Amino acid sequence: MTAASGAEAPPLVDTHLHLDDTRFDDDRETVLRRARQSGVRAVLSCSTDLDSARYTLALARRFAAGDAMPAVGVAVGVHPHQAGRVGSIEAALEALERLAAEPQVRAIGEIGLDFHYDFSPRDVQQELFERQLDLAQRIGKPVCVHAREAEPTVLATIRRYPRVRGVLHAFAGDREQAEQALALGWYLGVGGMLTFRNADAIRAVVSAAPLERLVLETDAPYLAPVPHRGRRNEPAYVALVAESLARLHALPVEAVAQLTTRAAVELLGLEF
Ligand SMILES: [Zn+2]
Repeated sequence: MTAASGAEAPPLVDTHLHLDDTRFDDDRETVLRRARQSGVRAVLSCSTDLDSARYTLALARRFAAGDAMPAVGVAVGVHPHQAGRVGSIEAALEALERLAAEPQVRAIGEIGLDFHYDFSPRDVQQELFERQLDLAQRIGKPVCVHAREAEPTVLATIRRYPRVRGVLHAFAGDREQAEQALALGWYLGVGGMLTFRNADAIRAVVSAAPLERLVLETDAPYLAPVPHRGRRNEPAYVALVAESLARLHALPVEAVAQLTTRAAVELLGLEF
């Protein structure tokens, strides 16, 4: 286990979590310190709507990176679940563009399409997804994309924004969809699902993908990896994802850490 091995732990990046979630209200700083002890040098906290984006940015300003804390980067965006509630799309886009100019903001996200829950009308999801991709293309920022039972439409959409690079977070598509995303220069986000007993399909796709194009994530507080499945997830557990990926690729965890961390730095322009 790599947990709590301090400076010995290989450097890791958690490219997708939700630090603004109320489940971190009592111990957010402790959670970040624990992540740093497990080797996590940087995290990207993704927002879900404008209020979430503003609050996440305030949190990132509060926690300065250092020997005991990971760097906290922010993604600002409207999640497909919230798309139906933004009101004026014009006003939302203007607000996002202002927020995206802040130095802590590394990406536009979490954006995308969710045809599993359909919490927002699909046409509104699609319009907001496209407008946020257009914003990312104009300001030169990468994107963090959520695709649930919507991979073909997501792929067809991102293809129309050729200057945008991003990550398909918690990727659960098939091998052909993975290959399409990789051919577009995109990255695949690998998280706790990799450790789930019933995730053979995801393991098959991930074992065939080049490590240079995989980035690690937790999606904390959701999707905790085994042996924490069903409990609150936290960024320190990205080390468990790295170990699982290392077993799958039959490589030392240090090699997996090095390659996935380099991929995350390339995509997100993180500094630590
Ligand atoms: Zn998420």
